[in-house]
Amino acid sequence: MPSRSVSGRTLVSELVQPHGAQLIDRLVDGAEAASLAAAAAALPTLPLDGREQADLELIAIGAASPLSGFLGEADYRSVLERLRLASGVLWPLPFTLAVADGVSVAKGAEYALRDDSGRIWGTIAVSDVYQRDPLEEARAVHGTEDPTHPGVAYLLGRPKRLAGGPVRVLPLSPDRPFAALKLTPRQLRARIAELGWRRIAGFQTRNPIHRAHEHLTKVALEVTDGLVVHPLVGETKQDDVPAAVRVRAYEVLLDKYYPRDRTLLSAFPAAMRYAGPREALFHVIARKNYGITHLIVGRDHAGVGSYYGPYDAQQIFDRFDAQEVGVTPLRLEPTFYCRACAALASARTCPHGSESWLEFSGSKVREILRSGGDLPQEFTRPEVAEVLRAHYQAVAPPSPAAPAAPAVKTPARAAAGPRSDGFILWFTGLSGAGKSTLAQALRERLATRRIEILDGDEIRTYLSKGLGFSREDRDTNVRRIGFVARLLGRNGVIAIGAAISPYAAIRQEIRELAERDGTPFVEVHAHAEIQALADRDVKGLYRKALAGEIRNFTGLDDPYEAPARPDVLVRSDLETPHVSVQRILVALVERGLIRPEEAGELSLAAAPPTVA
Ligand SMILES: [Zn+2]
Repeated sequence: MPSRSVSGRTLVSELVQPHGAQLIDRLVDGAEAASLAAAAAALPTLPLDGREQADLELIAIGAASPLSGFLGEADYRSVLERLRLASGVLWPLPFTLAVADGVSVAKGAEYALRDDSGRIWGTIAVSDVYQRDPLEEARAVHGTEDPTHPGVAYLLGRPKRLAGGPVRVLPLSPDRPFAALKLTPRQLRARIAELGWRRIAGFQTRNPIHRAHEHLTKVALEVTDGLVVHPLVGETKQDDVPAAVRVRAYEVLLDKYYPRDRTLLSAFPAAMRYAGPREALFHVIARKNYGITHLIVGRDHAGVGSYYGPYDAQQIFDRFDAQEVGVTPLRLEPTFYCRACAALASARTCPHGSESWLEFSGSKVREILRSGGDLPQEFTRPEVAEVLRAHYQAVAPPSPAAPAAPAVKTPARAAAGPRSDGFILWFTGLSGAGKSTLAQALRERLATRRIEILDGDEIRTYLSKGLGFSREDRDTNVRRIGFVARLLGRNGVIAIGAAISPYAAIRQEIRELAERDGTPFVEVHAHAEIQALADRDVKGLYRKALAGEIRNFTGLDDPYEAPARPDVLVRSDLETPHVSVQRILVALVERGLIRPEEAGELSLAAAPPTVA
């Protein structure tokens, strides 16, 4: 029976103990934050990628308790070999900080941790500098060396040198994605206590919730006091439904179909590793830090492709003492609507064959919604289907020649659907001026549209390998990016070019060619004073260029021709990325390239910036 305290309230101290007994978080505030920020600004930088940022956020808020920082060598080896920290505490995933070859890092020194927009997250006191063998880590964590496994691919793309040590983290930016939805473990514990819950079910997901998963959560809710729907919102694979779309779908679903006083929606900042059983164990341990007592662990939890057995993620819990794990994994079978049962059921409860079962794969759902068809209500709630439809139709507009979907067409809805016209959004600016960051942020904001980012550095790797930095080679590289952007733009994609593109003539050439195709071209100048960029120096390039180690560095010993009249001017040295994104969205709405509702809430109190 669900228990409830007499007073209707639970004491936080009565909730499940955090992993390792004490909740260790690494956020500093008040005067300490001010002095840490000042000290960090003067320190050399270690840059964070998206995964490392997510790991740091988990460490900061205590979701990764008892970790106090990125793993040192002894902990790292121990985690790979026995799924435990050197202290013996259960810990399945290596939380590591990789350091690129050109960046100097020394044991005993302190460094500022910055993301690729240059924002300082905090500091690390480096206690260990060591090497990893990526294939060894891939085998241990992912059970495969296959470079097409998304977790392995990530690992193979990262530097082998790692730095470990305790971190201190500044108050987290309210601008970061889903900030308002990300209750920290302390906040969620307080909320749970306030609600008087003692047995708390958690549901980890990186997918939209259809009826089958709704059913699982409600089965869990039958035997607990409350349910925390806890979607993962960090990095996922390209073909997963974007978190922004999923969150809208969770909100409409919870609003209409879940008991308000027994359900909470909160976001889990982790990135996906697709490490199957090890990640399932991590998902469970992290939720213990949030005060959750029962986590649903389904078939192939945290899996991808066929790298793991369907029940591996459930069976890993048999290897450890239940007390030590501390959260009960609710091992549930996949469910489905059975026409013969006329109910949601699983293979454990339904005597009929799969011919009676209503099941659709993710790609089938996509195909049906994209072509204007409807999904049966027994499969998904209509409100959820609408959110996904808007996303999928924007991602690939229905073509008139598409085969008819099995269900009814809904022309009214298609007419009201989002715009699907492509255009080119061209970022130009010096290295480190925020081009990639703003491109990524826009992709997130416009999650219902089809967007491709053409990143200058990536294009140099894949499309322009061998090109140097002479004016001619730079023009060739930019011309190639422009060519791909035009192909994408005229096929309904929003193509975002993010390359220094220092010469005005070639930018003008791309604009004219695009406009001749009928593809609108919007130029954004990401401007920042060179001194600010050199001070921030996210990739350590300015230091090297100033030391003469890099030649032909744009803005220093190579020219940059700033646009005389950019369509949008943003100042990454004077304004937050949030404000810059707003400026760009306003310009896109004004030009009729996106609809106001696609841009979301827009407010621009500040006057447009000027180039000094
Ligand atoms: Zn049945």
